[in-house]
Amino acid sequence: MNEWNIQSRASACESCAQPFADKQSLHTLLFDEHAEQLRRMDVCEACWQSQFSDGARERKGFISHWQGIFEVPPPMVDAIQKETAETLLRKLIEQNDPRYAPAAFILAVMLERKRILKVKEQIVRAGKRVFIYEQPGTGDVFTIADPDLHLDQLEAVQRDVAQLLEHGLNPPPTTIQNDDAPQPVAEQPVETPLQS
Ligand SMILES: [Zn+2]
Repeated sequence: MNEWNIQSRASACESCAQPFADKQSLHTLLFDEHAEQLRRMDVCEACWQSQFSDGARERKGFISHWQGIFEVPPPMVDAIQKETAETLLRKLIEQNDPRYAPAAFILAVMLERKRILKVKEQIVRAGKRVFIYEQPGTGDVFTIADPDLHLDQLEAVQRDVAQLLEHGLNPPPTTIQNDDAPQPVAEQPVETPLQS
């Protein structure tokens, strides 16, 4: 089961296929029908009213719902130039490496405190607490499982996060260094200036 993923907001209603207009109200539903991940569905107000609103969640099959506003996404350039906690979190989720689960969780908590992400829902799936976050600007939904960190692990994870924020994902932060062995001269990756 993949407990972390990002699902983008649809650009059109998934029920009637009408494209969303800027500032149009829409409804986001999460369905728990796949083994691997929750399925997201965005529908327009009319489809919500006519097809989804009138029943209990259980009957309609979705486990979470919220109302949002569609915004025309910003140009891609803006998104790429900003290397921030948010872009790092996106990269970690894309890598889908369980090694990064604690770091991704801490980043999500940081972003929530900065009000960049909002918690929409907390659910329990397969015995794990799972947080559903939304980035209100883009409407992207981040699904992140609670790694159940113990207090004595927190410091190490926070160090990992700080290192990742400073150096990015490459080179990997967890290379094992042996002080006795001669260090191979690694080719230095070109550093891109990070905007903080
Ligand atoms: Zn519709």
